[in-house]
Amino acid sequence: MKEIIMVKYGEIALKGINKKTFEDMLQNNIKRRLKLIGQFAYSRNQSTIYIEPQDDNTDMHTVVESLKRVFGIGAIQKCAVFPKDFDTVANNVGEYLKDTLADAKTFKVEAKRADKTFPMNSPQIQQALGDAVLDAFPHLEVDVHNPEVTVRLEIRDVGAYLSAKRITGAGGMPVGSSGKALLMLSGGIDSPVAGYMMAKRGLVVDCIHYISPPYTSERALLKVQKLCEQMTDWCGDIMFYCVPFTEIQEALRDNCPEEYFTVLMRRLMVKIANIVCKRDKYGAIITGESLAQVASQTLPALYCTNTAAEFPVFRPVIGMDKIEITEIARKIGTFETSILPYEDCCTVFSPKHPRTKPHIEDILAAESSYDFDSMIAEAVSKTTVRRFKYGEETVFLD
Ligand code: ATP
Ligand code: MG
Repeated sequence: MKEIIMVKYGEIALKGINKKTFEDMLQNNIKRRLKLIGQFAYSRNQSTIYIEPQDDNTDMHTVVESLKRVFGIGAIQKCAVFPKDFDTVANNVGEYLKDTLADAKTFKVEAKRADKTFPMNSPQIQQALGDAVLDAFPHLEVDVHNPEVTVRLEIRDVGAYLSAKRITGAGGMPVGSSGKALLMLSGGIDSPVAGYMMAKRGLVVDCIHYISPPYTSERALLKVQKLCEQMTDWCGDIMFYCVPFTEIQEALRDNCPEEYFTVLMRRLMVKIANIVCKRDKYGAIITGESLAQVASQTLPALYCTNTAAEFPVFRPVIGMDKIEITEIARKIGTFETSILPYEDCCTVFSPKHPRTKPHIEDILAAESSYDFDSMIAEAVSKTTVRRFKYGEETVFLD
C-alpha cells in the first residue's frame, strides 16, 4: 500500500495576497531537508502540501520526525493512497488503521470530496466508512463531538487518501520568511532556546560567539559549535562567527572599574555584533537574556547594554523563568550540551560584586577611557566564519 504525507500549513494559511511566497519558502525548506532522506514528488492544494515518496522503501518515520522540526507546518498526516473505489478503502481501513484504532474508544469519520464526480457525497462516505470501521473494530463507539480518533478520507483527483493520526507540527513561520538575525550564542541554556524561538518566527538565525583563549578552552568552543550543529535541526544551515575577545577583556580588566566589567563587556559584544550586522545584512540581534536572572540582566543593566545596539534586540526568553527555558532546551535537544561544564568568556574576570544598577553615564565614561573602538575593529577583522549545514555531524565532544 502506498503511503504519502500531507503537510498542513500553520499561520501561513491566514496570509493574504503574498501567501504563495510563504508557501514556496515552506516547500523549499521541506525539500532541502527531505532530500537527505530520499526522493519525493510535491504537489499543493488548499493549504496542504502533498509529499509522495518515489521509492517504496522510504523510511516514513524518519520523514515525519524531520518534518516535525520544520517551522511553518501546522500538522503532519501520514495517509494511505487507494484507488477511488469505496469498497477498496472500506476493505483496507481495518488493516491500515489498526495501530491507531485498536486501543481507542471513540472515533468519527470526516470525509472530503474534492472530486465531485465521485458517486457518493461526503455524508454518505462518512456513514459508510463509519460502518466499515465499526465492522473492523466492534469495541469502538462513534463520538462526533469529542472523538479520540478522527478517521479522514479525502477523495482527490488522483486517488482516495485515508488517514487517522494528525501530528502537531512545529508551528510558526518558514525560516527565511522574516529575514535574518544574528544570535549571540553562549554555551549556556538560554541562548540556543532564544535562537530556536526566533527561527520559529521565520528568521534565519546565524550565530556569533566570543572566545577568550587561553582563559576559555578549545573544549568550550567545541561545545558552542555542537550547540550550533544541534540548532540546525530547527533553524536550517547556520553561519557561525567566532570573535577573538581576549584582548578586549584584558583591556577592560586593566582599565575599567571591576564592578562595571560585565555590562561593559556585554556592550562591546553588542558593538561587534552591530558591525557584523551592518556588513552582512542582519536585521536584528538576538540574545538569551532573561529579566533578573543575573546581575547583568536587571532593568538598569539591560538599559546600558541596549543603548549600545544599533539594531532591534530580540530577547524572546526575557519573560521566562529558568524552568520554562529548560523545558524548551530539552525539547529541542540542546540541554545536555548546554550543561557540559566548560567555561564561557563571561565568567572570566567576572566581578565579585557586579553593579546591579549601573548608571549609563558611569558606563559611558568608563568605556571612553580607553580606545575600545579600534580593538573592536581588530576583533571583527580577526573573526572566523564557519557554516554548519543541516544534517551534517561535524563536531565531536566526549
Ligand atoms: P546563556 O544560557 O544564554 O549563556 P546566561 O544565563 O549564561 O545565559 P549570560 O551569561 O548573562 O546569560 O549571557 C546573557 C546573554 O549574552 C546570553 O544569553 C548570550 O545571548 C550573550 N552571551 C553571553 N556570553 C556570550 C558569548 N561568549 N558569546 C556570545 N554571546 C554571549
Ligand atoms: Mg552564559
